[in-house]
Amino acid sequence: MDSFDGRVEEATGSVLRCRGIDTIQVNLGLMCNQQCRHCHVSASPIRTESMDRHTMGLVADAVRRARPSLVDLTGGAPELNPFFREFVETIAGLGVRVQVRTNLTAMMLPGKSDLPGFLREHGAGLVASLPCYLEENVRSQRGEGVYETSVEAIRRLNSIGYGIDPALSLDLVYNPGGTFLPPGQAALEADYRRELDARFGISFSRLFTITNMPVGRYWAGLGRQEKGREYLRLLKESFNPGTLDGLMCRDMVSVRWDGALFDCDFNLALGLPVGDGCPGHVRDFDADALSGRRIVTGEHCFGCAAGCGSSCKGALV
Ligand code: SF4
Ligand code: SF4
Repeated sequence: MDSFDGRVEEATGSVLRCRGIDTIQVNLGLMCNQQCRHCHVSASPIRTESMDRHTMGLVADAVRRARPSLVDLTGGAPELNPFFREFVETIAGLGVRVQVRTNLTAMMLPGKSDLPGFLREHGAGLVASLPCYLEENVRSQRGEGVYETSVEAIRRLNSIGYGIDPALSLDLVYNPGGTFLPPGQAALEADYRRELDARFGISFSRLFTITNMPVGRYWAGLGRQEKGREYLRLLKESFNPGTLDGLMCRDMVSVRWDGALFDCDFNLALGLPVGDGCPGHVRDFDADALSGRRIVTGEHCFGCAAGCGSSCKGALV
């Protein structure tokens, strides 16, 4: 009963299954202008994986058929994909809401100054990493200069309504700077709001607290410090059955840059494709089969179910 599946069965009497495709998450590639310590997909400026136009067309066909409520764009820095704007236009043109997971600094690169306006024009929601309201913590996780540039990006986004107009969401993402679980989301959101307003006069919509997953560069870093086993023990000891109903894999599917399908971005990072007999490529997208599929799980899943839980939308309970 020490496996994640075993704990789920013990708590619910059944295995973990998807219940519908509310969100299609699309990983547009691994190129990123940053190289953060906590990155679960190990993105960096030298990664070359990138979704091409043909695969984007296949994703758009899947969106037409499945009609999800949300298409969630991630990476790497999704803005660095050469067909990013074209893809946003296509999906928004289908009447489906687009959300972009941005690192904020990519929007400040040369040639991107009109990007906030473009995203507003297409009604895109933004989810932006800012793992602390204190500079030192952001610098240690995400690199020199990232904090200042992120603040400047939020300022620009605020100036056109993001994080202020309820229709233009700008959600921030916190993750812990060490091997501990996130603090309570509501209290931390209040701290962020107060501190960012007092220091810079900037605003955001909501704060999402996310647990560092034992995957990718974060996991490799723990291994080097010989802290992996201890962290996994913390996640397992913090298992909370109350989070299982809200696990994000129950309502979504992830598409990798080459069109392969996964239960979530973590399984994507680990190379664990969708199972249960579902077609594994977006060209064969079968919304019905995917909707009832059994989720492929592993030890890393304890990261989603620890404490208050963790997902792309923050805490689960
Ligand atoms: S965490 Fe985000 S910003 Fe940092 S390297 Fe990974 S994809 Fe880039
Ligand atoms: S890691 Fe992925 S598959 Fe596992 S519980 Fe989290 S969302 Fe679900």
